[in-house]
Amino acid sequence: MQNNLAIFNSLSRKKEPFKPLHPPFIGVYVCGPTVYSDPHLGHARPAITFDLLYRYLTHLEYKVRYVRNITDVGHLENDADEGEDKIEKKARLEHLEPMEVVQKYLNNFLKNMDELNTLHPSIEPRASGHIIEQQELIKEILDKGFAYEVNGSVYFDVLKYNEKYKYGKLSGRILEDLQANTRTLEGQDEKKNTFDFALWKKATPEHLMRWASPWSDGFPGWHLECSAMSTKYLGDVFDIHGGGMDLLFPHHECEIAQSTAAKGKESVRYWMHNNMITINGQKMARSLNNFITLDQLFKGEHPLLQQAYSPMTIRFFILQAHYRSTVDFSNEALQAAEKGLQKLMKAIETLKKLKPSLSSTIDISGLKGKCYEAMDDDLNSPVLISYLFEGVKYINAVNDGSEKLGAGDLDSMKTLFNTFVFDILGLRDESAGKSNEKLTGDLMNIIINLRQDAKNKKEWAASDRIREELKKAGIILNDKKDGAEWEEV
Ligand code: ZN
Repeated sequence: MQNNLAIFNSLSRKKEPFKPLHPPFIGVYVCGPTVYSDPHLGHARPAITFDLLYRYLTHLEYKVRYVRNITDVGHLENDADEGEDKIEKKARLEHLEPMEVVQKYLNNFLKNMDELNTLHPSIEPRASGHIIEQQELIKEILDKGFAYEVNGSVYFDVLKYNEKYKYGKLSGRILEDLQANTRTLEGQDEKKNTFDFALWKKATPEHLMRWASPWSDGFPGWHLECSAMSTKYLGDVFDIHGGGMDLLFPHHECEIAQSTAAKGKESVRYWMHNNMITINGQKMARSLNNFITLDQLFKGEHPLLQQAYSPMTIRFFILQAHYRSTVDFSNEALQAAEKGLQKLMKAIETLKKLKPSLSSTIDISGLKGKCYEAMDDDLNSPVLISYLFEGVKYINAVNDGSEKLGAGDLDSMKTLFNTFVFDILGLRDESAGKSNEKLTGDLMNIIINLRQDAKNKKEWAASDRIREELKKAGIILNDKKDGAEWEEV
C-alpha cells in the first residue's frame, strides 16, 4: 500500500497529504440523493466523483467502507425548516404513498448509477430507518445544552454553540453576517434566531411521515440524518466526507455543529466537495427549461439535445474535468468527449493485437509514474486522461512500426490501460455489448432460415425441434407470413 495521495480539504481550504486514521481501513461518507424526482445530471457528478475516489482508494489496497445515504424523510421544500416535505408533496401530486415515491425514484437512481458504472456503496442507509439513532443524537445535543425545545419541536442553538465552538468553519461564513442577512421567515417565530435549525419538527395533523418521540409526534430535521448515520457506521471520527458544493452550507456546516455539540470533537477529517454542472453556461434549473434527466440524456429526448449520449460518454465527459472545476454541458463538448472515448477504446483494441519486439523504444514506467502522480494530485483525472492519450499515441506508433515495445513492456502497457481506464476511471467498452447483440441477431437469423428451409421441404419434425429447443433456451418464435420473429421471455 503506497500512498502519496493529497486531497483538497474544504475545511482547511488547502491540499493536504491524505493520512487515514486507521489504515488500512478508510471511512467515506457521501451525501446521497433525496429520492423524489428522476435522477438528473446533477446526480451524476457527485456519484462519479466519489466513485473515482472509492475506486482509487480500493486500488491502493485500502479497505474502504463507503456509505452513501438515501434521504427519504425530512427534506423540506427549499431546504427550509418549514413547509412541505419534498417526498410528501410528490406523493400528493402523483397519488402515491410517500414510500412508493421513495421506492420508485430510488429504483430509477440505482438503475442510472449502474448505467454510469458506479460501484455500489458498502452501505446505503435510509434516513427513515434511523429515526431512533437521530432521536438519541438529539438527546445528546439537548443534554450538552446546545439545543432547545419549543412546542414539540427541537432546534439547534447556533449562538450558544458559537460561544464554545466556532460556527461557520467550513463555509467561512461569519455569524454576524448571517445575523444581518437573514430575513424573518413566516413560521420561524418558534426559533430564537433565524439561523437556528430544526433537529426535530412537530408534525402538523396532515403530515404523513411521523414518528413518536419524547417531544412530539414528528420527524427529524434534514441535516440530522447524516450526522447520525455517519457516526453509526463510521464512528465518532472518520476520514472523508463528500458531497456537492451546494451542500457545503448550510447542510455540512450544520452536520459539523451537530456532531461537535454531541461528541465534543469534530467528526470529519477531510471534507471533499465536487463543483457544479452548468448547461450552455447556465445553471441547471427547472425554471430555465434546461433541466435534463439522465434517461433523457441517454435517449437524446430533450429539446436541447442534438443526439443521445451514452452513459460512458457522460462519465468520460465528467472525468475530463477536475472534480473541483465547473463542467459545462453542450452538444459540442459532449460530441468531442464521445470521439475522444472512441479513440481511447479503439487504441485499447489495437493494444490487444500488438506483437512484441525484441526491445522497447518507449518508457512505460515513466508513463505509469505520471499516471499515479496525476491521481495522487487530488484525483486529477483530466491530467491522467492526457497521459493516457500520450499512451494512445505510443500504441498507434507501435502499430504502424515507428516505435517498439518489448514483451515485458507490452504487458506493462496492457496492465496500465486496464488499471487506469477500466478499474480506476471506471469506463466500460460499450461497443462490446453492442457487438454481442448484433451477434445474437445474426445467429437467430441463421436459425430462422434453417427452420424455414426445413418447413419448405416439409421436414416438420426438424422444424418443430428447432422451435422446441429455442423455447427451452427462453426464445419464442412467432411465425409470420414472411418468415418468423423471435423474442426472449
Ligand atoms: Zn448529508
